[in-house]
Amino acid sequence: MTQRFIPVADLRYPHATPFVPVKPEAANGLLSDKLARPLRDLRISVTDRCNFRCVYCMPKEIFDKDYAYLPHQSLLSFEEITRITKIFIAHGVEKIRLTGGEPLLRKNIEKLIEMLASLTTLNGKPLDLTMTTNGSLLAKKAQSLKDAGLKRVTVSLDSLDETTFQRMNDVDFPVSDVLNGIDVAHAVGLESIKVNMVVKAGVNDQEIVPMARYFKDKPVILRFIEYMDVGASNGWKMDEVIPSAEVIRRIHASMPLKEIEPNYTGETAARWAYADGVGEVGVISSVTQAFCSDCNRARLSTEGKLFTCLFATAGHDLRALLRENYTDEQIIAAVSHIWKQRDDRYSELRTSQTNDNSQPIRKVEMSYIGG
Ligand code: SAM
Ligand code: SF4
Ligand code: SF4
Repeated sequence: MTQRFIPVADLRYPHATPFVPVKPEAANGLLSDKLARPLRDLRISVTDRCNFRCVYCMPKEIFDKDYAYLPHQSLLSFEEITRITKIFIAHGVEKIRLTGGEPLLRKNIEKLIEMLASLTTLNGKPLDLTMTTNGSLLAKKAQSLKDAGLKRVTVSLDSLDETTFQRMNDVDFPVSDVLNGIDVAHAVGLESIKVNMVVKAGVNDQEIVPMARYFKDKPVILRFIEYMDVGASNGWKMDEVIPSAEVIRRIHASMPLKEIEPNYTGETAARWAYADGVGEVGVISSVTQAFCSDCNRARLSTEGKLFTCLFATAGHDLRALLRENYTDEQIIAAVSHIWKQRDDRYSELRTSQTNDNSQPIRKVEMSYIGG
């Protein structure tokens, strides 16, 4: 049985007010954690709400009409998000991904994109500014997102088959609207569009090959994500995971593939190109082949808690520092202190305890922390 919980906003997950060193050291972009991993990528959740109820992320039985979403005053404002982003840039962050919940539900998201697009990295280059969306509002918003300065977009889509897709999103949302959103994103000039498909055994795994075939010659890179034990509400079981090796085997059987080099160190997806030279796919093997050793990602929750791992059980309350008038130098030093203590490598250590859902670990939900 799925464990039911009614979270109280702000107190739903344990958190600590970060330690602020008395004599803050300046950032130099060379911060590294206990496992010598730098800080390069910040994922920012801009809302904990969503118009989908994907079975692997926000199951209906838990995220129902009584679910306590964060009140508006708890959310970081755009000014606060921009200030935190500058603090992370000082530590060497080059990539910002806006996520959620469904980021396109956040009112005036274009304004935030405009504010972030004006920032530059330590080397004076524009930030790699991107977003992960379920695509439901993309056709309507792609142009304004592009105009605001969004560079790229990743769209989640779990099936081309109407019945299967609706079984995954659980709100009867039609596939055609998401596909149209992807086309419009391309037409307005959003670059390197990716499509993420979470594969859940027995639910949408029959869609692996049709999805690969459909996107093969499109200006889109399709990536298959192993279903993860993130959060505490999706009732994850190992036997519902289709390993990436099996995904590749199934596609290769009809459309031969060969593995190619990653684009950069720390890339989450392994890349496979079609042997006929047209198109490629990626596989994200978070369960069967963990990539913690290169993990340079931090996550900022909707209400400003910093999480150093997707599977963390507690966050660091940066919003408290912002709202208690600490200086940028002090907050930079606090982040530095947190990152230097970081030794997370949950996926590498994943054990049989995650198989046992009778006593779920109270991990943060993905809709709150950001995917
Ligand atoms: N709502 C947006 C979307 O769906 O693209 C952004 C947030 S969503 C939490 C980010 C990504 O996390 C999506 O690609 C989604 O498929 C993925 N995701 C959510 N729950 C997951 C799970 N249990 N295992 C693997 N991926 C998951
Ligand atoms: Fe919403 Fe994205 Fe989670 Fe689906 S995966 S429920 S679209 S936040
Ligand atoms: Fe990074 Fe944590 Fe995922 Fe490992 S489990 S790759 S440390 S987020």
